[in-house]
Formats: sequence, C-alpha cells, structure tokens
Amino acid sequence: MSTPPPQRVLIAGAGLGGLLLAILLERAGIEYHVYEKHDEFRALGSVTSLSANIMPVFDQLGLLKELQQISLVMSEINVYNHKMTRVGHINVHIQKEKSGYDVLMMWRKDLHQLLVNHVPKEKISLSQKIVSIEQTKSDVTIVCAGGQRHRGALLVGADGAYSAVRKSMYDTLAKANKLDPDDLIPMKATHIAILGATESVEHSQYPWAHEEKSSMECYLGESSKHTWRLFNIKGAKICWSISFQIDPTAFDDKEMDQLAEWDRQSFNPDSEKWRDFATKIGCTMADLINLTPTDSIAKVMFEEKLFETWHHGRVVLLGDACHKMLPSAGRGALNAMLDSVVVANAIYEMTSFSNLDQIQKGFRGYYLERYPHAASEISSSKQMARVTSGDTWLDKLTRRYVLNLMPKWIHRKNAEDAVRFRPQASFLPQVGSKGSEPALPQKISKKYKGLRMVTKSSDDSQNEKIVKLAPVVPEVAVV
Ligand SMILES: Cc1cc2nc3c(=O)[nH]c(=O)nc-3n(C[C@H](O)[C@H](O)[C@H](O)COP(=O)(O)OP(=O)(O)OC[C@H]3O[C@@H](n4cnc5c(N)ncnc54)[C@H](O)[C@@H]3O)c2cc1C
Repeated sequence: MSTPPPQRVLIAGAGLGGLLLAILLERAGIEYHVYEKHDEFRALGSVTSLSANIMPVFDQLGLLKELQQISLVMSEINVYNHKMTRVGHINVHIQKEKSGYDVLMMWRKDLHQLLVNHVPKEKISLSQKIVSIEQTKSDVTIVCAGGQRHRGALLVGADGAYSAVRKSMYDTLAKANKLDPDDLIPMKATHIAILGATESVEHSQYPWAHEEKSSMECYLGESSKHTWRLFNIKGAKICWSISFQIDPTAFDDKEMDQLAEWDRQSFNPDSEKWRDFATKIGCTMADLINLTPTDSIAKVMFEEKLFETWHHGRVVLLGDACHKMLPSAGRGALNAMLDSVVVANAIYEMTSFSNLDQIQKGFRGYYLERYPHAASEISSSKQMARVTSGDTWLDKLTRRYVLNLMPKWIHRKNAEDAVRFRPQASFLPQVGSKGSEPALPQKISKKYKGLRMVTKSSDDSQNEKIVKLAPVVPEVAVV
C-alpha cells in the first residue's frame, strides 16, 4: 500500500511571490516547503515599487513598518527627451489620498531579504532546480535536476517567467489535447535591459540621491530605440536601467539560462553605446555604472504574456509564471504578491487536501478572481511603456496625451481604479479601510472563526492599538 502524501504545499521558487506565500501559509498554520534553484537568494532587478494594493496585507502581517523602513515614498515621474527637456510629469501622491497608503520604492534586494527573514530557514531548500512535475489523483511530486524528488499534496509554481512547473504542466495538457492554443505561443522579448544599483553616493556630488522622497526619471533616446531611467532609493543609492528595443524574439530555455549567466567581468561600462547617455543629475550613465558593483548588474528581457491556463489538478501557478508584464508600470512584483494572497486564501479554505474537487474549485476561484485584474494590469503596463519609452507615432501621441493633455478627472479616476483591489488574508484580523476610495469587497472566509478585529493601520502611529471589535461579517460578494 502506498504511503499517503505529506499534507504539505510545495512552493516552487523563492522569488517575491513564493516568499510572500510562504509567510502567509506560515501564519495560516499550513505546512509548506519552498524549493529554489539557485544556491543563494538572488534578487533580480534593481528597484521595486509597491503600491497601495498590497499594503493592507503587510499591515495585517505586522510588516508594514519594516517595509517603510527600507523604502522611500514615491512622489513623481518625470520624462525627458534626449535634449534633457522635460516633456511630461506624473504626480503619484494621489494614491495616498485614495487608498491611505503611499507608493513605496525600495531596493529589490532589501525587499527580498525582508521576506526571506520571515520564512523559517528550515522551510527553504536551495539548489533544487525543478525540471519536471508528476501528478496523480492523490499527490504531486517535483523532480529536480540533481535527481531529488519532493512529494506533497499541492504545488504552487512561483518559479517566474520561464516556469518549469508551467512547462511540465502544459506538456501534459498538450498531450491530452486540453491546452488552450494561445498558451502554446512562445513569449517574445521586445527589449533587452541592463540594470543595477550604485553603492551609496556622496551628497556633494549627487544631492538628488539624498532627497527624502523618491522619483523616477525617464530619458528618451534620440530615436527612442533606447531609454534610460534613474530612481533614488533609501541609503542614497541610485537604481538605473538602460533598455534597448529589439525585434520581437522568442528565447528558448537554454538561451535564457545563458543570458542570466552572462559574463559580467567582460562588461565594459565605458562602452560606446551608453558612454554619453546624459542625465539631469550631472553625470552620464557610464558614471553610474562605474559606481555599481559588478555583481549587482543584471541583464533582463522585457516580455509580456497573459497565459490562459493557471491551474490543473493539484498544481497552480502565480506571478510571472502565469502573467508576465512589461516593467514600465512597475506592477509585476506587486501582482505576484497579490496572487499569493488570493492563493493563500483559497488554500486556507480547503478543508482537506484529499478532496481533489475541492482543490480544483479553490484554484478556479483564485483564477476567476485574479485573471481580470492581471489582464487589466498587463494593458496598463503596455500603456505606461508607450508613455515612458515608445517610439511609434501612436506611442508619441499617447505620451503627449497622458502627460500633457489628459484631463485631471481622468487621472483621478485611473488612480481610483488602480487602488480599489486591496485584498487581505482572510485568516488574519482585517485592517480597517483607509483613504477615500473603499477597497472592493473582501471575500470572507467560511472557516475563520476568530473575531474579525477591525484595526486602524499600524502605520498610523496615533492609533496603533485595536480600536474596535466586530463580529464575523456574513459572506459578501466575491471580488
Ligand atoms: C527591469 C525590471 C524592473 C522591474 N521593476 C518592477 C517594479 O518596480 N515593481 C514591480 O512590482 N515589479 C517590477 N518588475 C517585475 C518583477 O520583477 C516580477 O514581475 C516579479 O519578480 C515576479 O515575481 P515572481 O515571484 O512571480 O517571480 P520571480 O521573482 O522571477 O521569482 C521566481 C523564483 O523562482 C526561481 N526559479 C526559477 N526557475 C526555477 C526552477 N526551475 N526550480 C526552482 N526555482 C526556480 C527563481 O530563481 C526565482 O527565485 C520588474 C522587472 C524587471 C525585469
């Protein structure tokens, strides 16, 4: 007789989505284990912005203050042409008024470390590169490159844009003729970017890096085939990126691996390509690259794709594994984390991991809740790419409209739409609504029996203690 599967959730990937899910399952008292392919924690990218949508969850977890300590509040986005003339400006303050939470900018490495610190060490295994998965009606197993096999009741594929979990799941579905044809179309990269974060820079030379608030400075190259961006973050560091437009190209797994492991030592900051890219802060991009430790420079692809199939049997995908968006609006990490919240709520609601129907219903609920939001985020990221780096006449027109002509009421309405989805963990005391724009109704847990404590936010130092106790709210409309 075969042994029953461990009642454990396997999480593929210790990225931002996988780690937040681990923290949530820890708080929900659900057994889990994280498997990461690298032999150390690596944080891709240089800067991350997180907006109001995810803040209530950090608040619930008691991590909001810690998050604020590693962040600067984002104030504005400025766009310049190659002559260094400002062609547009977006004010970001409005999110605070609508949601009660600031948009925060942080060094991605700090955010990653914050999450790692809250997952018990023994629950993460490094050097576990997943190559395939196997499913039966009663369990799921991940198979790693070193031959290790790990068995569990559920598997969450949080293993990024080139997800091995997705690939293996899709292979099975395709063989059975059950895969949506759109999911067979490969992702295509439209830009290659080089990015990094400097060491702390001197106030005398870089006063902008020492400002109390963060801003994003976008520069359009003469032909707009290349753009470069700067962000000031906590610790007087400057995050930067330079992106080059390429003909849409699909990369296979091997090419992606090679790209990830590109030879940093041969990287020449004084290369002709970007030596003269100027900035408004009195230096060139080559200067900033020279102030950046070589091992924190990364090369990445800009791609977008919304996958149609997010779950099958005991396996579910989240984050870039099911919706890869352009980084222009800075919403990819945010959406991976929002997925984690909704997946954790769905798993919490399952009364037994042996009931496959219940598992599939839970994952379907997650998909129905998140898919429309992911679709709309992909489309606004595309719009933002047009505004901050587009090259076609339509892009230029969009840029002029959004930055200079769009009526204020549309900006305000967009801000309201953007902050409305602020889900919370259904198994933790809820934080009270803040800001002028109410959050969409929260799906209420059928299982959570505790009193639902309505608290003021923990970032509101005047009102840190619980101010009101309310009984469990009856089930309301699902978002
Ligand atoms: C230049 C750039 C700037 C960005 N800026 C922002 C921003 O400001 N704000 C924002 O919200 N988003 C931003 N993003 C997007 C964001 O980085 C991603 O959307 C986000 O990291 C997705 O999270 P994830 O958890 O789904 O995947 P990832 O963060 O990619 O994590 C996946 C994890 O899985 C591991 N893994 C992969 N394959 C395997 C395997 N076979 N076996 C085991 N482990 C595996 C990886 O090593 C990694 O640790 C940016 C992206 C880029 C490229």
